[in-house]
Order: sequence, then C-alpha cells, then structure tokens
Amino acid sequence: MRLGDSVDDYCSRCKRTTDHAVVAMAGEEVQKVLCRTCNYEHKYRHNKTGRKELTKEEAFQKVLASVTGQLGGTSPEAPKKKKRGG
Ligand SMILES: [Zn+2]
Repeated sequence: MRLGDSVDDYCSRCKRTTDHAVVAMAGEEVQKVLCRTCNYEHKYRHNKTGRKELTKEEAFQKVLASVTGQLGGTSPEAPKKKKRGG
C-alpha cells in the first residue's frame, strides 16, 4: 500500500463503502484516505462500519448451546446389579 493507492473504505458522507485514495500513511498503516466520490478526506476506518458486534454474542451462544446440549443429552447409567446364580 502506498500514497495515492486505491482502497475501499466506508465514507460517512456517501453513507457507504466507496473507492478511496490513500493520502496519509504511518509506516505500513494507512492513516487517512480521500473519498473519490465526494472528495471527503477522513481517517481510514479499515472499511468498518462499526456494525459488527455479534462476535461476542455468537461466542456466548456457542457456549450456551454446548452447555444445554450436555444437559439435554445426559443419560445416567443405571447401576447394574450382578446376577448371582448358578
Ligand atoms: Zn464520499
């Protein structure tokens, strides 16, 4: 990635992901981008809209499913009595 390169990012003016040009960098990290659609310069958002917060809940649901699955699948072994005979 270099200055002037094209990068997809979310533009708060366009309210959508648009084509951007890199205008500022710090090392390998893109710092600022310029929207090619409306020429709005802003911080690089790594194409994140801030609407992905399901990861934690998904993880929780997975744990919950495993726990409830264990409880539902319990089959206690009945103690077998040894038959004495013969
Ligand atoms: Zn824009």
